Amino acid sequence: NSTVLLMPKKYVYAFEEGSAEMKNLLGGKGSGLAEMTRIGLPVPPGFTITTEACRDFFKNGNKFPEGLEDQIKEYLRKLEEKTGKKFGDPNNPLLVSVRSGAPVSMPGMMDTILNVGLNDATVEGLAKLTNNPRFAYDSYRRLIQMYGEIVDGIDRNLFEEVIERVKKEEGVESDAEISVEGLKKIIEEFKRIYKEQTGRDFPQDPYEQLINAIKRVFESWNNERAIKYRKIYGIPDDMGTAVNVQMMVFGNFGWDSATGVAFTRNPATGEKEFYGEYLPNAQGEDVVAGIRTPKPISELKNDIPEAYEQLVKAAETLEKHYKDMQDIEFTIERGKLYLLQTRTGQRTPKAAVKIAVDMVKEGIITKEEAIMRIKPEQFEKLLHRQIDPSIKIELKPIAKGLPASPGAAVGKVVFRSDEAEELGKQGEKIILVRPETTPEDVGGMAAAQGILTSRGGMTSHAAVVARGMGKPAVVGAESIRIDLENEKFEVNGVIVKKGDIITIDGGDGTVYLGEVKLVEPEITDEVKELLTWADEFRRLGVKANAELPHDVRVARSFGAEGIGLARTEHMFLGEDRVQIVRKMILAETPEQRKEALEELIPLQKGEFKEILEIMDGYKVIIRLLDPPLHEFLPNYEELLEKYYKLKYGGGSEEELKEVEYLLNAVKRMRDANPMMGFRVCRLGIVIPEIYDAQARAAIEAAAELIKEGKNPRLAIMIPGVSIANELKFLRERILKIKKEVEEKFGFEIPLEVGTMIEMPRAALTSSEVAKYADFYSFGTNDLTQMTFGMSRDDAERAFIHNYVEMGILKYNPFQSLDYKGVARLMKIAIEEGKKTNPKLEIGICGEHGGDPRSIRICHRLGLDYVSASPFRVPIARLAAAQAAIEEKWEKIGRIPPVKFE
Ligand code: PEP
Ligand code: MG
Repeated sequence: NSTVLLMPKKYVYAFEEGSAEMKNLLGGKGSGLAEMTRIGLPVPPGFTITTEACRDFFKNGNKFPEGLEDQIKEYLRKLEEKTGKKFGDPNNPLLVSVRSGAPVSMPGMMDTILNVGLNDATVEGLAKLTNNPRFAYDSYRRLIQMYGEIVDGIDRNLFEEVIERVKKEEGVESDAEISVEGLKKIIEEFKRIYKEQTGRDFPQDPYEQLINAIKRVFESWNNERAIKYRKIYGIPDDMGTAVNVQMMVFGNFGWDSATGVAFTRNPATGEKEFYGEYLPNAQGEDVVAGIRTPKPISELKNDIPEAYEQLVKAAETLEKHYKDMQDIEFTIERGKLYLLQTRTGQRTPKAAVKIAVDMVKEGIITKEEAIMRIKPEQFEKLLHRQIDPSIKIELKPIAKGLPASPGAAVGKVVFRSDEAEELGKQGEKIILVRPETTPEDVGGMAAAQGILTSRGGMTSHAAVVARGMGKPAVVGAESIRIDLENEKFEVNGVIVKKGDIITIDGGDGTVYLGEVKLVEPEITDEVKELLTWADEFRRLGVKANAELPHDVRVARSFGAEGIGLARTEHMFLGEDRVQIVRKMILAETPEQRKEALEELIPLQKGEFKEILEIMDGYKVIIRLLDPPLHEFLPNYEELLEKYYKLKYGGGSEEELKEVEYLLNAVKRMRDANPMMGFRVCRLGIVIPEIYDAQARAAIEAAAELIKEGKNPRLAIMIPGVSIANELKFLRERILKIKKEVEEKFGFEIPLEVGTMIEMPRAALTSSEVAKYADFYSFGTNDLTQMTFGMSRDDAERAFIHNYVEMGILKYNPFQSLDYKGVARLMKIAIEEGKKTNPKLEIGICGEHGGDPRSIRICHRLGLDYVSASPFRVPIARLAAAQAAIEEKWEKIGRIPPVKFE
């Protein structure tokens, strides 16, 4: 259509022409100013040059696109009419600010130029008009400096040196004390510097100043720091910035003027109170520079009462309008209030929850909106002890590892678990530092405030166990070199000895030397209330991965609806039980094995009963033994060393024999890759006594509870099935045992038998596997390992973090579910499994079950529940609700279609 082609694009919008919806075109600041203007709030008039103009400027080789300059001229004329001032008129000069404003907030990354319109003539006019020469000359010198630096790239130091010199000459300390004469001198010097550096005079034509300022603000989109910022926050490079040209207002006109920042609610606590600070007789820069201490906003009520009343009303209007807490910048010029910016206010996690819940009660937002507003990462911080956020930014970590289990901890470094247990009993606060942990370390882990390892990934023993216990843990901090023999570690030249105090933050994987101040978690009434709302909206069930009675109780108190994974090998933890398990694994004859089992199983039966009772009425999924055998056996290399030491370095015949026996046994059981070796159900099939005994113990525990009038809901889960026949074989055995126990007790015992889906082949042959399963639970730790062919024990330490940094992977797949591969296998397993067995219940119990993004994927895949470690249950409840609401909002077109990558 030729007429359209001939029409120049509309590049400029007056504030009254825009609105909040035009954020992409007008930028955040521009659309905010437009919206405030539209709803009748006092905003200094002005106009916005669009992001499209910026993009076309770049396309045009950094020249204004056709039509832009004419439109700027036109809108400038309108601005003069509106304000009754004139650009370049000494009798009543119009001064403007030229500010950047991208669609996404990039604070301080791009340029701003103030006081555009001042020159040798208008500065005199301004001095006369305001009866304040000091203010006028100071504004002019600021313009020359800012313009010189930003538009012409003059070195800032050249200007600063002049100011310092004049201050010295006048014997004053601060810029604010420089005399009018001094300021005039500075202006002359600045103009000289400008000419020296550019070969031109400082432009006296206000229009030329304006055009150059706009161009430069466009170009500042490609400042080095802006580019870096966009890279960090994933902001597209082709968005461009809008430019806002706005009449200047001055908070430094005298004592009836002021400038400040206000929040509609307290951003630290969330309390509904007007909050903020201001500086009388000052400009915005003075607030930022921190030269004078601002006053609390309440005092404005006495200083400038009318403006205060206006401000309070405007704040109320803005909060109601935006339906969220606002952070407002304002200036009062000679008693008149102007709003310069409004945006959604930053807040602490605690305040975020309180504000969201309060706003529902005040009828401002819906429950759905309240739930969607809370970021899960933010929410997580409420549940754990944290490093005091006010000092966190200043701290320098000595090491960084994986954020394995959230929360912060302080304690003395201890390298041995038995010692940790001992000191723990004495009430000492300790951090257990190990290369990696094994079941033998569990006592020490329980006694410690936190755990630090130099090896292992997000699904390593240390990570999984610490998360289960709710203990802060940093794992895989590979820069730490641990010297167990001398009980010290070295990291980047720092030596940390046993007994030295360190602080770890398991939320971001950082480690600090010395004691850092921590703040306690606060599960406020608002948090609890928000979670009960979340339960109204979520479709996914939320269960817990837990097996120790204490952890099961914690999980229940956090709202877990049953146990999705009780790892029975975790019940064999602690030095004494490990010994029995070893005996069982290493047994050479069925008799020896039976002996060990008879010691072990009664212990386990008691605990089965306890957890079934705590979760009475909720399903408890007990997984039969799935030990990575190496976790229970002594380390082969260490044994070998010991053996040679004893053999050639002297030692008793008896000791040598014992070590030799162990060495041979370990050699027999050892797998090059334990994850692909003799473990999971393979172990249960080849040595059926173990699974038989465990199944019997669990079923009898349930039977005893039924007899006591309880309602246990037992489910037994088989790990690591690849072949449907594996499950068929084990299911038949378990059902046979069930029958035997039923005969013994004389009543029926409800039982479900299901399987983990953690081997790709099981997912791919789901139509067969589902024949023998009442339920599936995706073991996405192993499924990820097997799908990627990357070891869950070593990959994160070795290369995953490089992959994430290099952008080869977007997420660490052991932390957040891989959508393209692993989730695809899950989809196949679900579809084919449900076709075979429509009643099949499907959940997830890999570590992804507690990860918000993975939970959203699980919701979309149609899972019935997620299972997460106890301390992640609240986050899973929130994330599950968000997943449901997100899907609903997508369906009604409230949000664009969600794409997972
Ligand atoms: C899994 O593999 O995802 C799982 C839950 O089992 P484990 O971590 O005990 O191997
Ligand atoms: Mg597994």
